Amino acid sequence: FISSVSHELRTPLTSIKGYASILIAGKIGEVPPAVKERLAKINTHSDNLVKMINDLLDIARIESGRAEMKYLKQSIRPLVDNITDLLTPQLRERDLNIKIDLPENLPEVYIDRNHAERVFINLVGNALKFTPAKGTITIAAQPKLENGMITFSVSDTGIGIPEDDLQKLFEEFYRVDNEINQSVKGTGLGLSLVKQITEAHGGRVWVTSKVGSGTTFYFTLPTGPEYVKSLTQKKEI
Ligand code: ADP
Repeated sequence: FISSVSHELRTPLTSIKGYASILIAGKIGEVPPAVKERLAKINTHSDNLVKMINDLLDIARIESGRAEMKYLKQSIRPLVDNITDLLTPQLRERDLNIKIDLPENLPEVYIDRNHAERVFINLVGNALKFTPAKGTITIAAQPKLENGMITFSVSDTGIGIPEDDLQKLFEEFYRVDNEINQSVKGTGLGLSLVKQITEAHGGRVWVTSKVGSGTTFYFTLPTGPEYVKSLTQKKEI
C-alpha cells in the first residue's frame, strides 16, 4: 500500500516542482522578489516531500524483501572515505571535526554498497545536525567480531537524546521535540531506514546517549554471506 501511494504521490509532486522552477526562472514573465521568495519555498517543501516519499518507498521495499540487494565482499575503508569526502563541506561549514577509527586488519564486509552507504550517511548526517560547533564525530569499528558480524559506531559530542525517547527513535516519523528539530526540517524516517537496512543485512542497530554529552549509534554488518539473513527469510521461518 505504502509503495503504491508513494508512486502515485511522486508524479504530481514532480509537476509541482517543475512548474515552480519555470516560474522562478522567469520563463512566463518577470517575477517580483516577494513572489520569487514564496516560489522558492514551494520548491524546498516539494524537495522535502520527494525525499520523504523516496525514504518511505525504500523502507517499504526493504521491509517486504523486494529491494534489490547486490551483496559483495569488500573493504569498508573506501566507503567510509567516500562519505567523509562527501560531507566535508558540511563539516567545515559547521566547524566540526571528524575522526575515523578503523582497525588496520579489519576483515572485509559482505554488503550492498549503496544501502550500507545510506546507513553511514544517515547517521553521520544526524550527528552533523545535532552537534554544536567545535564538536567531534567519530566513525569507528570494533576489532572483535561477534558471530561473524563487525560492530561499527558513529558517535558525536552533541546535544544527546533523553532516555524516554531512545526506545521510540527507530519508529517511522519519530522525532525528539527539541530546539534543533523545531527549526531544521527532517522526516523522522532516516533511522527507520537505517534499521531496515541493517536488519536486511542480518545485523542490528542500537543507541546510547547522554543529554548534553553526546550520542553513539552502533550497528553490525556481516563478514560473509552465511551471516546475511534478510527480513523476508526471517519472516518465512
Ligand atoms: P530526522 O533526522 O529526519 O528527524 P531520523 O529518523 O534520522 O529523522 O532521526 C529521528 C530523531 O532522532 C531526530 O529527529 C533526532 O531527534 C534524534 N536523533 C537522531 N540522531 C541524533 C543524534 N546524533 N543526536 C541527537 N539526536 C538525534
